[in-house]
Amino acid sequence: HAKEQGRCCFKFYSDSLNCRAIERLELEQELRKALQNDEFELYYQPQIDVEKDQIVSVEALIRWHNPKHGLISPAEFIPIAEETGLIIDIGEWVLKTACQQAKLWLDQSGNECRVSVNLSSVQFKRGSLVGFIQTVLEETALPANLLELELTESAIMTDVEENIVRLQQIKALGVGIAIDDFGTGYSSLSYLKKFPISTLKIDRSFITDIDTSADAAAIVKAIIVLAETLNLDVIAEGVETKGQLQILQSFNCSLIQGYLFSPPINANNFEKLLINDLHLVAS
Ligand code: C2E
Ligand code: MG
Ligand code: MG
Ligand code: MG
Repeated sequence: HAKEQGRCCFKFYSDSLNCRAIERLELEQELRKALQNDEFELYYQPQIDVEKDQIVSVEALIRWHNPKHGLISPAEFIPIAEETGLIIDIGEWVLKTACQQAKLWLDQSGNECRVSVNLSSVQFKRGSLVGFIQTVLEETALPANLLELELTESAIMTDVEENIVRLQQIKALGVGIAIDDFGTGYSSLSYLKKFPISTLKIDRSFITDIDTSADAAAIVKAIIVLAETLNLDVIAEGVETKGQLQILQSFNCSLIQGYLFSPPINANNFEKLLINDLHLVAS
């Protein structure tokens, strides 16, 4: 009986493994067709300067409308895109689309709202990246200073010397560089000074705990002071409550991104915010 049960358990286990492997394979196959089937969309989340009471920039965040499974989160499909190399084509589509859109908004509203685009480490490592960015800027006619690229610490902290050169080339184009999810990786502070970066984005996990954990608050404060010292912009991501906002303001952090002001929204809805210059009242 025990043996039977064991076999049964084993069978169940192996079925669920198979099931996951098949699901993953299906997703990969569907991902291959998603670009040509026009299933991707960019959403936009405002970044607000609360001192100026104004949207100063916007982060482009990809969405995948899968015909079978509905909306699939980038957290789920970006890793698959990276492992399969599909991230190259997807990433190029993201950059082009975001720059086109930002140029359109610039022309329509006169509002010099910068767009932030997430770059995968796979994209960052490619020798052709800088040329590609330059081409996109030329083709879309977006002023380079209205583009910022977001990279994670882990993407830039490996092969540091090579990366410094690449970041310098990107900076020379006039494009900004933000370190995303800052505080969760392994940044070497001495290198941080050598990297030609423009912005630190404090990871959401610290912001979430800022009003309940003295440690989280201390870390946030330290990152803000570090940014000031290195002459970098600093933005808090994942701000959801007025309490969190108040603490950030008391630490002199005035750039805010988070559900408190707006979730990521589609291009039409973001355009309404921007063109009407709506005051974003923290809800
Ligand atoms: P990220 O770049 O750190 O983006 C911030 C994520 O936090 C977004 O999730 C955003 O919707 C979410 N967020 C913003 N404010 C709040 C808040 O107040 N509360 C909560 N709970 N969440 C908030 P999203 O859009 O699901 O993206 C997840 C991750 O997927 C991104 O993290 C980024 O690493 C990656 N990603 C998204 N779009 C792209 C892309 O176009 N290219 C690449 N390479 N990666 C992307
Ligand atoms: Mg980001
Ligand atoms: Mg982030
Ligand atoms: Mg992230």
